[in-house]
Amino acid sequence: MELPFAESYKIKVVEPIRKSTREQRLAWIKEAKYNLFNLRSEHVFIDLLTDSGTGAMSHFQWAEMMLGDESYAGASSYYKMKDAISELLGFDYFLPTHQGRAAENVLFSVLVKEGNIVPGNSHFDTTKGHIEFRKASALDCTIDEAFDIHNPHPFKGNVDLNKLEAALQKDGDRIPFIIITVTCNTSGGQPVSMQNLRDISNLAKKYNKITVFDSARFAENAYFIKTREAGYENKSIREIVKEMFSYADAMTMSAKKDAIVNMGGFIAMRDQQLFRDATVFNIIFEGYITYGGMSGRDMNALAAGLYENTEFEVLETRIEQVAYLGKRLTEFGIEVQQPYGGHAIFVDAKSFLPHVAKEQFIAQTLAVELYIESGVRGVEIGTLLADRDPITRENRYPELEMVRLAIPRRTYTNNHMDVVAIALKNVWDRRDSIRTGYSLLYEAPIMRHFTVELQKI
Ligand SMILES: *Cc1c(COP(=O)(O)O)cnc(C)c1O
Repeated sequence: MELPFAESYKIKVVEPIRKSTREQRLAWIKEAKYNLFNLRSEHVFIDLLTDSGTGAMSHFQWAEMMLGDESYAGASSYYKMKDAISELLGFDYFLPTHQGRAAENVLFSVLVKEGNIVPGNSHFDTTKGHIEFRKASALDCTIDEAFDIHNPHPFKGNVDLNKLEAALQKDGDRIPFIIITVTCNTSGGQPVSMQNLRDISNLAKKYNKITVFDSARFAENAYFIKTREAGYENKSIREIVKEMFSYADAMTMSAKKDAIVNMGGFIAMRDQQLFRDATVFNIIFEGYITYGGMSGRDMNALAAGLYENTEFEVLETRIEQVAYLGKRLTEFGIEVQQPYGGHAIFVDAKSFLPHVAKEQFIAQTLAVELYIESGVRGVEIGTLLADRDPITRENRYPELEMVRLAIPRRTYTNNHMDVVAIALKNVWDRRDSIRTGYSLLYEAPIMRHFTVELQKI
């Protein structure tokens, strides 16, 4: 018999998690104003809110923590990070930042001006936030296939080149750069093909624009290229990563994802002038250029994480676990985004809860029901996240209302995935009785989903 799939690690340190009763969870979620971000983590049994900063570091990374150099300037930890970025990603210049959105803040302070348009595949929420905060706009040029959850297209993070070229022709003078998110978080952890990255880069050159990669899950993207794109099956993840970044002029990174650290990020670029311009903002917002908001030990762990997570077995373990949860849900008849994403399973809330009106936050309603059922915490990717239009202040109703179940790296076992799948099936079995959702009590002017307060209708 063929041996079954198993994790490519064993466990040395554990952290207890606790179950709760339905009555307790009903009280806690009410107190949290039906916002899952407001829950205390000890009131959560299996936490699939995010895969950001929630992964388990390896013993190599923990060993590196002890070797951190906390010198203000010129720390060896800075050089470890610099060497890893240069060797693995191919960029000569980099600036550490405390996390991904800080990298966006610094880089966009240089690149984005009022009235600009920044095209790309579906922008991540903080990326869009940093663009709109500067009175510019984000233009989504993702392929239409991405919005049909049943379409099995292998690269649903791809940019529609016709949409992109139309924007470059019409508004070229307002476009400072093109941003490509790998993998595309917002469209379901879906990858961008190498061919598409190459084509985007050529188009950008034709119109004299630079290309920036929002790279939080670049290694997962490389895994999908290796396993899905012709011509790459025999290339190593590191070779693929190198080629991917050869099509970028600059990158921002949330290291809390594919560098498997709890905190950290960076900007990397080829151009010395861009580096110098960004340095000014990095020093104001983040810290001196050789630490930029990170401690030496964290830079060490980050460098080690970049090497580890560009190994095939590490990525295979992670992406197979995500697919395992996807398969279990599909077997129950629950509709989820196909193909399964790299870091998360996206559950289609509209087909799950057809009786809940869109004005009552369909995906949020489902995420709350799952928590009440089992203590599993997912997150809404729907109307709350889509926010209001910055000009008209009307609610934006996205085509897809999803509950994202994001799987932290190396943190849970497949037994936990079974609990999640069966909890969701239990909600599925009583879906006809769920007919109303929530209304707003409080919302912030931008990125409201984090702090929103709701009441039951
Ligand atoms: C997480 C993420 C960010 C922001 O990074 P933080 O570290 O959370 O600030 C930006 N882009 C993408 C695609 C992300 O997934």
